Amino acid sequence: MNLLKFKNRPKPVPPLLIEGEEVSFRIKHVANAKRMKLRISASREVVLVLPKSVSVKKGLVFLEQEKPWITEQISKIQSPIAFENGAIIPLQGENYQICHVPDRRGLVWVEGGKLLVAGKTEHVPRRVYDWILREGKSVISEKALTFAEEIQVEVKKIALKDQKSRWGSCSPRGNLNFSWRLLLMPETILDYVVAHEVAHLRHMNHSADFWALVQKMHPEMETSKSWLKQNGVLFHKYGATY
Ligand SMILES: [Zn+2]
Repeated sequence: MNLLKFKNRPKPVPPLLIEGEEVSFRIKHVANAKRMKLRISASREVVLVLPKSVSVKKGLVFLEQEKPWITEQISKIQSPIAFENGAIIPLQGENYQICHVPDRRGLVWVEGGKLLVAGKTEHVPRRVYDWILREGKSVISEKALTFAEEIQVEVKKIALKDQKSRWGSCSPRGNLNFSWRLLLMPETILDYVVAHEVAHLRHMNHSADFWALVQKMHPEMETSKSWLKQNGVLFHKYGATY
């Protein structure tokens, strides 16, 4: 028996049953986590993130309390929607149908409530994804610069990524990262996430001062936060990974 391999194996955790069905589940201890957190991936895997000082036992009690929320979130994860001809995707909260137009010139554009895509069939998903990245970057950059001016901070770099576990992040150097999926959400939600990350350029923490600043920059902060908690997971079904 390979002892070393055995030693490195993560500790077994009890199976997680949601409405009688076993759901993929793991526990992750994170040194700099401040509090217990639950994450649900697009593949319906539940991850319980625990600060180093919190025991698995305590974590499982928290998990038990959060079961109604997990159940609700899991039920929302439907089959993935690829960026293919005929698919309906939201853009800033409004639905658009992807319409492949091989005979038209151009790349991707919005026309009559549709998202038109020229070129070969096999290029449609990639073109739509690239278009969302470009559009998202321009929309988010404009908003970030406006917020930055409002609170007198400097944004260094803005990048859009396929972030799985968070909608935005801010590095100590002043670089802001955002999930491209934000472009799919209603504008007020996008505004909240941008305001949140820009506010971190002033307060690199989640202190009372930080939240007061975000609230001032985006008065619908609380409703946006709970909207994200309730609906955010729905957006992971869009687009395959490229
Ligand atoms: Zn934050």
